[in-house]
Amino acid sequence: MIIFDPRNRVYISSKLRDTGYTSSFGTRLSRNPQNHRIVMKQVHGDKIVKITAQNIDREKFQNTDGMITRLNGVTLIVKTADCVPIIFADTLSSILGVSHQGWRGTLLNLPLKMVNFLAKEGVQKENIIVAIGPSISACCYKIYGDRLDLFRKTFPRYVDRIFIKNNNDIFLNLGYLAYLQLVDAGIQKNNIDYFPFCTSCHKDHFYSYNRDKSTKRMESWIAKY
Ligand SMILES: [Zn+2]
Repeated sequence: MIIFDPRNRVYISSKLRDTGYTSSFGTRLSRNPQNHRIVMKQVHGDKIVKITAQNIDREKFQNTDGMITRLNGVTLIVKTADCVPIIFADTLSSILGVSHQGWRGTLLNLPLKMVNFLAKEGVQKENIIVAIGPSISACCYKIYGDRLDLFRKTFPRYVDRIFIKNNNDIFLNLGYLAYLQLVDAGIQKNNIDYFPFCTSCHKDHFYSYNRDKSTKRMESWIAKY
C-alpha cells in the first residue's frame, strides 16, 4: 500500500517500510534528502551501476539509470517528473536499488534488467520488495505514431493490457507496464507496491513534464542506516 506522510509530505510504500529501510517518493512539497546523496546523471538508458566503497566518491554517475548498493548510510536517489521511479529492497541480502524509466527505459526493459542485475548479485528474486512510484498514467499519456508502434512491437504480450482507447486516441499506462515487466522478471505480485496516482493530474503534489514542460523533478530515494 502507498501512504501519504503529511509531516514530510512524501509518499511511503508500506511494503518497503516493513523492510526496515528508509524510503520515500518525494513530492513537489517535500524536502530532498541531504545525507550522503548518490545521484545518477539519468539519460533514459539502461546502464546499471553497483555503488561500492571504491566508486562511491564519484560526484555523479554518468549515463546511468539504475543503481544498487549494499553500503550503509548512503541515499540512492532517482529523479522524475512523469517517468517511473522504482525502488528495490531485499533484507536477506541487505541490498537496495533504484531505477528511472520513461518510455525509452521501459522499451529497453530496465525494470527486468534491474531484477536480473540483483539476481546476479545473489539476491533471490522471490525475496525482492519493489515499489513503483508516481508517474504519468493512462489518463494523460497519449501515445501515437512511431512510439506507439515500438511499444506494440516490443510488448506484443501486453498490448491488450497497457493501452486505453479514448475516441481515436490511445493512451499508455507506463506504471502498469513496469509492473508487468517486474512480474515477468520473477518478482512476486505480493511484493510489489503500485502507485495509484498520476503525476500530470495531481498538480498539488507532483511536477509533471507533460503538463508543465519544466525541468523540475521530484526525488525518490532509499537508504539503510
Ligand atoms: Zn492523469
